[in-house]
Amino acid sequence: MPSSPLARTRARASVLAALTVSALVATGQPATAAPDRDATDPLNRAFDRAAQEYGVPRDLLAAVGYGESRLDGHAGQPSQANGYGVMHLASNPENRSLEKAAALTGESADRLRRDTAANILGGAAVLRDHADRLGLDRAERSDVNAWYPAVARYSEAEGPAAALYADTVFTFLAEGLDATAPGGEKVRVPSRPVAPEKDGVPSAGIYAQSPDYPTARWVAAYSGNYVVGRKAAVDKVVIHTTQGSYAGSISWYQNPASKVSAHYTIRSSDGEVTQSVLEKDTAWHAGSVNSSSVGIEHEGYVDNPAWYTEAMYRSSAALTKHLAARYNIPKTRSHIIGHSEAPGATHTDPGPNWNWNHYMQLIGGTPGTPGDGLTFPSYTLQQSGSTGPQVKAVQQLLNAQGYAAGTADGVFGPATKSATQAFQRARSLTADGAVGPKTWTALLSVGTTPALSRGSSGDAVKRIQRALTAALGTTVDADGSFGPATETAVRTYQSGRGLGVDGKVGPATWGALQAGR
Ligand SMILES: [Zn+2]
Repeated sequence: MPSSPLARTRARASVLAALTVSALVATGQPATAAPDRDATDPLNRAFDRAAQEYGVPRDLLAAVGYGESRLDGHAGQPSQANGYGVMHLASNPENRSLEKAAALTGESADRLRRDTAANILGGAAVLRDHADRLGLDRAERSDVNAWYPAVARYSEAEGPAAALYADTVFTFLAEGLDATAPGGEKVRVPSRPVAPEKDGVPSAGIYAQSPDYPTARWVAAYSGNYVVGRKAAVDKVVIHTTQGSYAGSISWYQNPASKVSAHYTIRSSDGEVTQSVLEKDTAWHAGSVNSSSVGIEHEGYVDNPAWYTEAMYRSSAALTKHLAARYNIPKTRSHIIGHSEAPGATHTDPGPNWNWNHYMQLIGGTPGTPGDGLTFPSYTLQQSGSTGPQVKAVQQLLNAQGYAAGTADGVFGPATKSATQAFQRARSLTADGAVGPKTWTALLSVGTTPALSRGSSGDAVKRIQRALTAALGTTVDADGSFGPATETAVRTYQSGRGLGVDGKVGPATWGALQAGR
């Protein structure tokens, strides 16, 4: 395609003229044939228009968009690989499809990121550009099967990951789609027989078998994105959400710029598993617990529950069961943890849409408290003679603050009592050595005091959520993301303590919580 803006406009106009007729042939059906399509269907109209303008079969375009995003543009928020919108137009060192789409369409990068119709048009332009570079003529462009190599190139992945990507799209075409986008719009792709022309797409190794887990595929991560060997014994499984597509994530681990990897990645649609790092090696997925854990990534986005399919839960649970047996990992929430529950984690995955109780049932484990050992639906009185996980949490918190509570063994003995009294004196609380609501509130909120409000996330939010649970005596989900429920809890706390009621956590609210008020 020409690159000057003037030439671009002309080229685009001529493409449009040439394609208004042939686009009807492209999918074997008129682009406007679906009966329920009208002005309230912005996504369908965007697919139709982009398909016509760039001569890409409409159903192929929709299948690529569905595979990338489940048709969720995430309001312009980037994926882990810095990709945007329904078509996941990316801007990272290995994939510059966003910049490419801007050059091809004349749209600004900002509009391509935020505007779904522009984003779909950009995706179509990039696909068409790949087709042109592969030398597809008009007749070939009307046959979805001829587009396989162009779809593989659209992934900007190498070797097996590119073939995995294209295979996923062609499976959607073969099986058909009946998708509901966020907002409720339906996008349908009828099922059809497919026979993709795979010439020129290196598929060597695509069916390579995982060395550790026989039913998985093997696509290795870049050697600079993990460390050979481990510094600790494996005693945890960490559950993640990719914030990107399956093949896109696997190719992200192959990207030297990413500095991330995971042992396993699971596909949303059917639970397919690909291994990228050997279990004996340390993948870079969860910071503080990398050396003692196996990381499992689940295709999807934290904010869209559509990705967490039953097929994926079952496949993941089978893998975790296998890992638990191999490494003797207890099937409890202290050992099967979410990324957000790893100490010091700044990520929120897998988030509130992940059904932990269901998952723990599937692995035959015990649902219960998350891996940090600090999160409980309520905090009860702990004093001399108490035992159990909440005593352990008290001991952990006191020890972390330099109050010598002794070994965190879950038994409230004399050392724990005197450490509690020392902590209480430092906070001007009644030094009775018993941990009731005030002492819990003070203990759970200790640490840094960043300003927090709706949209904040991370460990500080979790501390606030736990402290509010103790202070208010009602459960505030400690998911590390500051949503409406957390805001309501903050307001309730502020009004109950005579603070300014704004639903935000600033110095006054932090101060009150840390003083155990
Ligand atoms: Zn994660």
